[in-house]
Amino acid sequence: MTFQELNLIEPILRALKTEGYTTPTPIQAQAIPLVLQRRDLLGCAQTGTGKTAAFSIPLLQILSQERTNHKEPKAIKALILTPTRELAIQIDESLAAYGRHTGLKHMVIFGGVSQNPQTDALRRGIDILVATPGRLLDLMNQGYVHLSQLKVLILDEADRMLDMGFVHDVKRIIAKVPAKRQTLFFSATMPKEIQQLADTILNNPAKVEV
Ligand code: AMP
Repeated sequence: MTFQELNLIEPILRALKTEGYTTPTPIQAQAIPLVLQRRDLLGCAQTGTGKTAAFSIPLLQILSQERTNHKEPKAIKALILTPTRELAIQIDESLAAYGRHTGLKHMVIFGGVSQNPQTDALRRGIDILVATPGRLLDLMNQGYVHLSQLKVLILDEADRMLDMGFVHDVKRIIAKVPAKRQTLFFSATMPKEIQQLADTILNNPAKVEV
């Protein structure tokens, strides 16, 4: 299996070549075609399996193909929720790497730092927002983040978000995004609580496990 065989667009294939990736990992080989078919996804995968690229690559492709012009982004099209600052930064760096030739704009927000640089960047317009739940909810409540045009919602490390006490924040955020959307849900473990959360936010999901 090669990335070419996954029908990826040339700007992404070129970026993956620069990264030195030759072969998709098992979760990438399973997830990328399903996400490109616009299916909801329930992914059971640990860190280290290549799951970040499994959702980032098809997300970048979908947004590149849906973009009708190259003007500045007017609204956030995709949101990636993740439990920690470190994971949020890693995901943002992955978007930068795989999306370097797409022209899509992305940024990361997390708590524990001044919000002014984050709100300034948000005002300039972005396509993809990577966020930890607490700071995102703060900025939403202050009117700095609007998710009414969201097309794709991604939850990364959902079990850790629950363990860290983010479940109410996550539910409040999801209550404010459009019901008609694509949702990708990743968790290393699938205890009952996580399964129930997944059931409430996913629509007929395809399941991938590695
Ligand atoms: P993750 O599980 O998303 O944290 O990724 C684990 C590591 O694998 C990261 O350092 C990625 O850069 C790397 N990686 C992801 N996909 C591939 C691939 N297809 N080929 C080589 N390295 C990869």
